[in-house]
Amino acid sequence: MDFQLTEEQRQFRHVVHEFMAKELKPTARHTDETGQFNWPVVKKMGPLGLLGLEVPEKYGGAELDPVSATIAAEELGWACAATALAIGAHNSLALGPIVRYGSEAIKQEWLPKLATGQGKLACLSLTEPGAGSDLQGGVRTTAVKEGDSWIIDGSKMWMTNASVSDLMVVLCRTDRGGGSHSLSHILIPTDTPGITIAPAEKKMGLKGSPTHAVTFDEVRVPLANLLGEEGRGLQQTLETLDHGRVGIGGLALGIAQAAY
Ligand SMILES: Cc1cc2nc3c(=O)[nH]c(=O)nc-3n(C[C@H](O)[C@H](O)[C@H](O)COP(=O)(O)OP(=O)(O)OC[C@H]3O[C@@H](n4cnc5c(N)ncnc54)[C@H](O)[C@@H]3O)c2cc1C
Repeated sequence: MDFQLTEEQRQFRHVVHEFMAKELKPTARHTDETGQFNWPVVKKMGPLGLLGLEVPEKYGGAELDPVSATIAAEELGWACAATALAIGAHNSLALGPIVRYGSEAIKQEWLPKLATGQGKLACLSLTEPGAGSDLQGGVRTTAVKEGDSWIIDGSKMWMTNASVSDLMVVLCRTDRGGGSHSLSHILIPTDTPGITIAPAEKKMGLKGSPTHAVTFDEVRVPLANLLGEEGRGLQQTLETLDHGRVGIGGLALGIAQAAY
């Protein structure tokens, strides 16, 4: 295997590093001290492609190869770990599954604004008070079909970006059987009636990356908001987390470089 970066990847690193050194790193201390989300710098990331790293160009993304996307994560981590976590969750946890499993209509509706910074960010919602490692057995949030809608009820925990997102990708129980095909991802716009986003958790670090409990009380969205195939939510989750781990590795490397 060739571990050398291509000329294009080296140039990409140079451009991203310059941006991070000039814009993000000088504001990192303020972000961590205040816990304020760094919208001014995040908005500038759109034109650089950092909000749609692996989103196809036809939906407004940068369509980068996985090595370049990991370089971006590394440079983000080097500049500001908290903002890096928020941007990482947006790209790989939320946009990743939309790109991989979303219908053409879902991609056309959501990706152009989410990948370019025209709107806010997106988030992935798996964890619940009783469901962390054991999602298959633990998820209690339900999505029930009624006419042409899903009705969603339940509580989620630790949702990165919930308060700074336009869209949540939410893991719901769509079949009470409890088998490996009982969960599905449903897209829920954050302005849908019935959603309550609790204030950000008071964390020991990564304070500029907001983490929230969220409740869904008879939240109604169209059946077309199902992501991919019904009953494939657990498999989609595991694939999404596998992809996300590479980015988290790059992010950790960037944090280590800054610390060193
Ligand atoms: C800053 C932050 C941001 C987060 N962002 C998100 C997000 O955006 N979206 C989201 O959905 N979630 C998010 N999470 C939640 C995170 O994914 C969960 O914390 C994680 O899945 C672990 O779940 P848990 O905390 O319930 O721990 P548990 O599942 O209770 O695990 C606790 C410990 O027990 C061990 N353990 C668990 N089960 C077993 C077993 N059967 N045998 C042996 N050992 C076991 C685990 O390895 C771990 O060490 C976030 C968490 C944090 C801290």
